[in-house]
This record gives sequence, C-alpha cells and structure tokens, in this order.
Amino acid sequence: MLQLRPNCECCDCDLPPDSTEAVICSFECTFCRTCATSVLSGHCPNCGGELVSRPRRPASKLAANPASLKRVVKQGGCTNAA
Ligand SMILES: [Zn+2]
Ligand SMILES: [Zn+2]
Repeated sequence: MLQLRPNCECCDCDLPPDSTEAVICSFECTFCRTCATSVLSGHCPNCGGELVSRPRRPASKLAANPASLKRVVKQGGCTNAA
C-alpha cells in the first residue's frame, strides 16, 4: 500500500491524499508537481527514478487505510544534481 506522504520532500508544501499535485517515484519519494517539473526535471533526486502522478485514494478508503503523517524532507534541499 502506498504511504501517501503528506508533503513535498523539496519545498515541504502539503500534499493531501486527494491532491492532484503529488508525484512519486517507485520508492515513494514524494514531491509536488511544481518541484518535479521545475527543479527535478521529472526525476527523483534520491534514486534517479522517474516521477509519476500519485494515484489518489478515495475518501471512503482513507478511514481504514489512512495516509502517512510522517513528513519527509530532503536534507539540504533539492537540486537536479543531487
Ligand atoms: Zn515541492
Ligand atoms: Zn526516489
């Protein structure tokens, strides 16, 4: 099951489970669409994998399968070269 992390690792903006702005890599490194396109050029700065839109979890499923509350922020910020 996806963790559905609550924030962007780059800018720490909120990415609720129903957000259409969230993108993830295969390890679930999570970013907002703005950072993914402008800073990261579509690739995860941690693993180099591609970033794709995170599927939204229907609200009816969130009660039993809640989204992660653990905020993950990349140390030192994000750059494409990292
Ligand atoms: Zn961001
Ligand atoms: Zn990654």
